[in-house]
Amino acid sequence: MGCLFCAIAKGEIPAQIVYKDEDLVAFKDINPQSPVHILIIPRRHIANLTDLDEADTELAGKMILLAGKLAREMDIAESGYRLVINSGREGGQVVQHLHLHLLGGRQLGGQLG
Ligand code: 5GP
Ligand code: ZN
Repeated sequence: MGCLFCAIAKGEIPAQIVYKDEDLVAFKDINPQSPVHILIIPRRHIANLTDLDEADTELAGKMILLAGKLAREMDIAESGYRLVINSGREGGQVVQHLHLHLLGGRQLGGQLG
C-alpha cells in the first residue's frame, strides 16, 4: 500500500499546498481542528519522529522554521499557535509519514492529552 503523504508530496493526490521546496511540502489539513491547520512534511518518506537521525538535523530544523514562517504568513504569529507531532500508536499518529501540525486561529485548549 502506498503512502498518502508521499502521494501528496508528488502531486499524485491533490491537496491545498501552501508551501513547497526541494525538501518540504506544507498543505492544509483535510479535517482542520482550528481555522489554521497546516501539515508540514518532508518530501522523503520518514515514518515518524523516531526515524529521524543525526543526518536529518537540518531537515528537522527546516520544518520548525517553516512553521514559524507560515504562522507569520497566516497572521497567527502574534495571537499564537501550536506545533504538534504525533508519533506512534499511543501518540495518536494515524498517517505513517512524519508530519508537523501547525494549529492556530482560535484559543486552543490547555490539555496535552
Ligand atoms: P496524525 O493523527 O497522523 O498526526 O494526523 C494526520 C492528519 O492528516 C489528520 O489531521 C488528518 O485530518 C490529515 N489527513 C488525513 N488524510 C488526509 C488527506 O488526504 N489530505 C489532507 N490534506 N490531510 C489529511
Ligand atoms: Zn510517505
